[in-house]
Amino acid sequence: MLYYSTNHKSPEATLQEAVVKGLAPDRGLYMPQQIRRLPESFFQTIERLSFQEIAYRVADAFFGDDMEADTLKDLVYDTLSFETPVVGVAPDIYTLELFHGPTMAFKDVGARFMARLLGYFIKKQGQTDVNVLVATSGDTGSAVANGFLGVKGIHVDVLYPKGLVSEIQEKQFTTLEHNITALEIEGTFDDCQRLVKTAFMDEELNRRLNLTSANSINVARFLPQAFYYFNAYAQLKKVGKSDNVVVSVPSGNFGNITAGLFAKQMGLPVKRFIAANNRNDIFLNYLNTGRYEPRASVATIANAMDVGDPSNFARILDLYKGSHEAICKEISGFRYTDESIAEGVKRCYETTHYLLDPHGACGYLALEESLQPAETGLFLETAHPAKFKDTIESILHQQIAVPARLQQFMQKEKQSVTLSNQYDDLKNYLEKRS
Ligand SMILES: *Cc1c(COP(=O)(O)O)cnc(C)c1O
Repeated sequence: MLYYSTNHKSPEATLQEAVVKGLAPDRGLYMPQQIRRLPESFFQTIERLSFQEIAYRVADAFFGDDMEADTLKDLVYDTLSFETPVVGVAPDIYTLELFHGPTMAFKDVGARFMARLLGYFIKKQGQTDVNVLVATSGDTGSAVANGFLGVKGIHVDVLYPKGLVSEIQEKQFTTLEHNITALEIEGTFDDCQRLVKTAFMDEELNRRLNLTSANSINVARFLPQAFYYFNAYAQLKKVGKSDNVVVSVPSGNFGNITAGLFAKQMGLPVKRFIAANNRNDIFLNYLNTGRYEPRASVATIANAMDVGDPSNFARILDLYKGSHEAICKEISGFRYTDESIAEGVKRCYETTHYLLDPHGACGYLALEESLQPAETGLFLETAHPAKFKDTIESILHQQIAVPARLQQFMQKEKQSVTLSNQYDDLKNYLEKRS
């Protein structure tokens, strides 16, 4: 299948080109030429299939033209070697737990898939080595670094702001070694993002290093996020709750929710979507006014959603042909301050004993506020609450347990390279190493 750019000013790209480039040359985001509908029969028996079987059917619709069936199947089965269970939280409110992967956040799914797909292009299709650059405020860096660990032909540099990520998060990408380097930048997350963007635009550096990005602009990280929406539907169907499903997605860069909108276009029976935001409510503002007005992000306790100019908005616009009315029919929006998020975590824990993380809490609150009779609510739990241990403990005034998978990172030694926030410093470093 070919991929076009949302800006329509670049030639269409093959899957390999789209994955290696990340962003189209006209700065648009790549979109698959077709979103294929899955047959009715698939949905009639979906509850009898495993997550891996379901995901393979979805993956086949996107990537089936571009690789052998057995290769794609291995890739999907290997990526999704963990469960994404649906758990009842309150009457008619369920959560899709996406935090059972290696770094306990939903980004593991896309990061692992992208790493394996890129690995396949390098090994089988003669793709030259690539260098992944990723800026992180915490979660992206850990998922990407762990997803790409040990993949031949790929080096990953994780740029993060010195002293501004939590210790648990930092340990997850500074202790890996091999093909992963943690670059500790003397600056903010915005500085890290600016450095990465400048590097991508630096033609001279790109000629030498073949740089690509691994955030949700990349189709190989973005599209696999559709898999688990189908699996969630299958699980709701098993318990007789698959009619009038409302899916609430804690959103930052809007990759996750856009993958859900793709799933719906493939025929997944979802009634409507909710984009749940923290105080960074650019999308809600767009729903209300029809105007998209990006702003500088503000810091919140749901920090993986502190995004002031969500990249995947371009994909949503493209999907609905720029129609504000069509977008409003499909998606509603809610925003929560740190105080409401904290209050939501506390109240949910006290009344249901389910421990939310600050991001999932936004999804939960939006359902509480807007679910109608005869609807079933499903919110995505995007990370394990222990990843935000300090925040949760200060809300609940009690200690919470840290799963062994996270503790194991804590025991290893941090290794990083410190750089200033000046682009020349980063460039020198990357050139010297190559
Ligand atoms: C990245 C992230 C989000 C936001 O997802 P988007 O796809 O960027 O909208 C939400 N919660 C957590 C925990 C995340 O890491």
